[in-house]
Amino acid sequence: MTTIELDSNYVMHTYGRLPVVFVRGEGCFVYDENGRKYLDFVAGIAVNGLGHCPPKVVEAICSQAGTLMHTSNLYHTTPQPQLAKLLADASGMNKVFFCNSGAEANEAAFKLVRKAAKAAGQPKKTEIITAEQSFHGRTLAAITATGQPKYQSAFTPLAPGFKYVPYNDVSALKSAANEKTCAIMMEPVQGESGVHAATKEFLSAARQLCDEYGAGLIFDEVQTGLGRTGKLFGFQNYDIAPDIMTLAKTLGGGFPIGACLARDKYADVFEPGDHASTFGGNPLACAAAIACVSEIIDGGWVDNSLEVGAYFMDKLRKLPGIKEVRGLGLMIGAEFVEPVAKTLAATALDRGLIVNAIGDHILRFVPPLIVTKELVDKAVEIIAE
Ligand SMILES: *Cc1c(COP(=O)(O)O)cnc(C)c1O
Repeated sequence: MTTIELDSNYVMHTYGRLPVVFVRGEGCFVYDENGRKYLDFVAGIAVNGLGHCPPKVVEAICSQAGTLMHTSNLYHTTPQPQLAKLLADASGMNKVFFCNSGAEANEAAFKLVRKAAKAAGQPKKTEIITAEQSFHGRTLAAITATGQPKYQSAFTPLAPGFKYVPYNDVSALKSAANEKTCAIMMEPVQGESGVHAATKEFLSAARQLCDEYGAGLIFDEVQTGLGRTGKLFGFQNYDIAPDIMTLAKTLGGGFPIGACLARDKYADVFEPGDHASTFGGNPLACAAAIACVSEIIDGGWVDNSLEVGAYFMDKLRKLPGIKEVRGLGLMIGAEFVEPVAKTLAATALDRGLIVNAIGDHILRFVPPLIVTKELVDKAVEIIAE
């Protein structure tokens, strides 16, 4: 059987996969089983921030794999607190809980804010406000937080206690918040629904409402975090600090790891027994993440994201048939006047460029943060063709 036949017969059909089998990657390129080379502007959907097989991450994984991969979280290991300090120092947060994915990081955040309210003697303070068109992951509470019925309707009943407001609608947010609000959760830039950045007014209103009602402001930075938006964290584009922030995607440079970070009173809410993850924060994942995060910070890749991102958006705006180009840093959406996105993505793949179509009108670009202007030129040339 071919790989595609094996996949079709034995793997659950949760993905409408494109007919290509990738076997190897290096930098901004991946290679299929026939040795064809592709320029990768999807990068694992914002996971391969340093490109494919970044040497420092590979070295850290190999070395840690031969030393200690896993022990129970009932014992101390060296990489986990080192990574926690690195993330805390870089973000202004105080403490970190480690898990394995974005959805799990968000689950930790939901439990954290619910417990914080109960610990403060407010058991009725349970509501979490999120945005329409958001994306927070695929576990049951995460799809509940995700304000898109298409991800929810087959799986009801959903988790209770979630409320939605249109993204960037300040007055809707004000009417939704009240004494029962225990958190407001937002992505600084919505990725999954076509790359829409929050307005400063919207995020400051969220911050003010959280302060007014004693609720926690959660930023889901699973996609926007770690250089993607041209700042190390998305919230730094707005000068609005969340109480809780979730990370995953780029964090491990391709290795699975998620994190829920919290500051001030939220940093010390969890006590032994409240929350756990068997694999979360194991030495292998943390070694990969230490190597990845250090390289993103020390290698100047955040500035590269800002500079090459601006260059890329400029070039996209000059393409024929473009309605709007939007985004921050290297998190970019290009909306076309005609419904050409799916055809463009399929044709681009044929010509050796990987891009992601969102619906019929939008292409999403989340290339590695190490991408160059030359590679952007090449990608734009293929799209123009
Ligand atoms: C990808 C993503 C998630 C889900 O992460 P998983 O690792 O797939 O669970 C959550 N929130 C945002 C903003 C994402 O982009």
